[in-house]
Amino acid sequence: MKRRDFFKASAIGLTIPSTIIKGQKINISKNNPVILSTWNFGLNANIEALKELKNGGNAMDAAEKGAMHAESDVENTSVGFGGLPDEKGKVTLDACVMDRSGNAGSVAFLQNIKHPVSVARKVMEETKHVMLVGEGANQFAIKNGFKEKKLLTKKSKNEWKKWLQNRREMTPHETHDTLSILVQDKKGDLAGACTTSGWAYKMHGRVGDSPIIGAGLFLDNEVGSAAATGLGEEVLKTTGSFLVVELMRQGRSPQEACEEALKRVIKRHNGNPDFQIGYIALRKDGEIGSACLKWSFEYALAKNGSNKLYKINGLIQS
Ligand code: ASP
Repeated sequence: MKRRDFFKASAIGLTIPSTIIKGQKINISKNNPVILSTWNFGLNANIEALKELKNGGNAMDAAEKGAMHAESDVENTSVGFGGLPDEKGKVTLDACVMDRSGNAGSVAFLQNIKHPVSVARKVMEETKHVMLVGEGANQFAIKNGFKEKKLLTKKSKNEWKKWLQNRREMTPHETHDTLSILVQDKKGDLAGACTTSGWAYKMHGRVGDSPIIGAGLFLDNEVGSAAATGLGEEVLKTTGSFLVVELMRQGRSPQEACEEALKRVIKRHNGNPDFQIGYIALRKDGEIGSACLKWSFEYALAKNGSNKLYKINGLIQS
């Protein structure tokens, strides 16, 4: 049997589109958008994404709008404008997008541009490439009409100056979080975006998982989507989001897939990693999953007319 197929739902000829994942029939969720995003700032991102869907935007438009909200939020010190800088006091941004066709765009080590997610989308739509970094990404952005803006706020600059006094290496979960957002629109199509200023006071030039397709974000419009937050280096080493989607393709539920991807990390670190990773996953039928390694993690889910924040505990309790 073909993996993707359409089944007759009833004798009256009503057709419910479905997909076959590892021999299991999964009804594709339509006319009931789902938006799943990371952390408490995901709540507002979801609201913006929902507005965009209501105005006729598709999943990609909505994911971009959601991410843009976090990028504009000056109170959010781990994404975009107001993000904490690297060790040299530079705010360097990573972002990526992926759409229903499996197209992807990404920027890394981008400076002075308020909406890296939109530059990533432009890379996807206007170039033959997937990823632009640093100066080249900046030039591309300016050429495409993005305005340069100083992103280091007084507040973030003061924090950085305090940090400079003893240059303590921050534990990753202390200072950084990514806005990752997964959207399923009313046609049932998927899209996603990630955006972050990365690990606070990181080495100049450091790039995390968030702009790397397959690590920070991955989707397959026949199966589902997944995205990450947390210590990018460890997400990169396990190609985290690709793994979660691949596990769903092999028949795991979104929840099982997130947990299995984290179990591999736990194993690599002899049962007790000292960092955080959180995954979110959304399957084609609208079912979601989410898991984190340690401590706790929050995700925001907009579905069936409500938009709520959920708190989950880590797989391992220390
Ligand atoms: N994953 C991001 C990075 O490593 C940061 C985070 O989500 O906490 O840059």
